[in-house]
Amino acid sequence: MNYRIPEQTIDQIRQSTDIVDVISEYVQLKKQGRNYFGLCPFHGESTPSFSVSQEKQIYHCFGCGAGGSAFNFIMEIEGVSFVEAAQKLAKSSNVEVEVPEYTATEQTGQSKETKWMMDAHLLLHKFYHHLLLNTKEGQEAYDYVTGRGFTDETLKKFGVGYALNSWDFALKFLTKRGYNQQLLEKAGLLIEKEHTAEYFDRFRNRIMFPIHDHKGNVIAFSGRVLGEGEPKYLNSPETPLFNKSKILYNFHQARPHIRKQEQVILFEGFADVIAADGAGLPNGIATMGTSLTEDQARIIRRHVENVTICYDGDNAGIEAAYRAANILIQQGCYVRIAMMPDKMDPDDYIRSKGSDSFKQDVIGASLTFMAFKLRYLRKGRNMKDEGERMRYVEDVLKEISMLTKAVERDHYLRQLADEFSISLDALKQQQFQVYKSLMQKKDYNEQNRINIPNKPKIFTQALKPAYLNAERYLLAHMLKDRTVSEKVQASIEGSFIIEEHRAIATYLYAFYEEGYEPNISIFMERIPEQSLKKIISELGMLTLEEELSDAVLHDYMKQVFNYPKLLTIKEKEQDKKQAEAQNDYLGAAQIAMEIIQMKKELKQ
Ligand SMILES: [Zn+2]
Repeated sequence: MNYRIPEQTIDQIRQSTDIVDVISEYVQLKKQGRNYFGLCPFHGESTPSFSVSQEKQIYHCFGCGAGGSAFNFIMEIEGVSFVEAAQKLAKSSNVEVEVPEYTATEQTGQSKETKWMMDAHLLLHKFYHHLLLNTKEGQEAYDYVTGRGFTDETLKKFGVGYALNSWDFALKFLTKRGYNQQLLEKAGLLIEKEHTAEYFDRFRNRIMFPIHDHKGNVIAFSGRVLGEGEPKYLNSPETPLFNKSKILYNFHQARPHIRKQEQVILFEGFADVIAADGAGLPNGIATMGTSLTEDQARIIRRHVENVTICYDGDNAGIEAAYRAANILIQQGCYVRIAMMPDKMDPDDYIRSKGSDSFKQDVIGASLTFMAFKLRYLRKGRNMKDEGERMRYVEDVLKEISMLTKAVERDHYLRQLADEFSISLDALKQQQFQVYKSLMQKKDYNEQNRINIPNKPKIFTQALKPAYLNAERYLLAHMLKDRTVSEKVQASIEGSFIIEEHRAIATYLYAFYEEGYEPNISIFMERIPEQSLKKIISELGMLTLEEELSDAVLHDYMKQVFNYPKLLTIKEKEQDKKQAEAQNDYLGAAQIAMEIIQMKKELKQ
């Protein structure tokens, strides 16, 4: 293979990289026995079937079959070339790599147009940021943001900037640098004056907040009006770069903190994220002016199980929190709700009551989803009214019935009994009735499953023909032991029955002949076919006996080698019977001879 980075450097990167660290940046992994498990980032799932072997430095998904080395993982998840994956891994493991500039851009999966749009955003973002921090033109804006409690550190961390009060600043700034106006319009930075082919700046006289994708590229902006005015926040429109339903604000910066704390805080707006970061909570993210989508929930769940939702304290915020919680729970998250006192938003709260109070009295005092629901169900009800009260109790009993833990059910039943002075036994009976009627409703289990802990699937080997297992175990042993491979090559060489297995064996013989030591991770990087990589990574995850005895080895080879011949013998035996039935004794004798010969050729 012709790497543009010297093989030696690749080796160096490989040696200073641990696949568990690499993948943990994207997937929350938990150790189970020898391997690590998590939710597959390549297909949607709610129970972990994605496994990582530290020992072998490979990953494999038992659900969709994805598999490979740390290099393969980065290539797949970031959609980049081998060279770029190597550069990324080199960066995180502090290995120096020199790659000519053109190689990097030439090989990215992005189209030229996408790249231009991103470059334009980056350029403009840098300039806006500079204007705010260092210039006279940005002074008023700077005073305004610092007056609202932003420190220089925060302004830098979130790349906050200022867009001049001008109709054509961005237009001139970018076209002078060769960017085409139509493209800038498509990127959401300019607006066209109704089909006149005349363009002007979208953002004018606003505090500019860059929005990054999950890799950290600037792909959009949100501009806050300076002082009063409408709209308070102006966002970039949906563009080829910016898909609101998939982007989570600050995800790129929060990711390592989310991982470390095994906890994420979900806010409604990006201003809350920035305020919370200033208050010492760097694991906050937000949706971009839309309600939480399933896509976003899936991204969150892949990284973390525990989510604290901290939305505004007004009615809309409470409704939105309730909806978001349900979406997250469906994806398998444990959700808590941090309640904001009367109609405040987190940003206001932190500014008026301080960081410590926010951490302790809001985030620290968050409610379980059940406790939140009890409050939620009370909303708008006159609890002094007997009828309303009874309907409330009934609604609560429904919620209690959906809890999977008896202890929890008991806890809330007692609480309810105390609060409304109802006998606990009566409540229990009523709850059981509710439970029964819920169970009778079709699909109840499918739709209302709540907080069922995620356990890795237990992978039972379905019954497979003997030769198939034999081939798999042969290859698995060959992958970790060169002598086994040599023995198989000498004895049955390409006689694998499954075509993919034959291909893998052929690659492996060549790999060893080139002088490589057994290393499934390196081996996989050299396999061009995705379909083969899937099989190899799965084989890599098989648990093998330490030593393969000659007897077992021989038995495996025998099964593989003999299987097609046994099939032919069976056919011949049928032919022979038929010949006999037709009184063709000569023909039958002829076939019998062939059978004897074939039996001799079988491995014993
Ligand atoms: Zn998968």
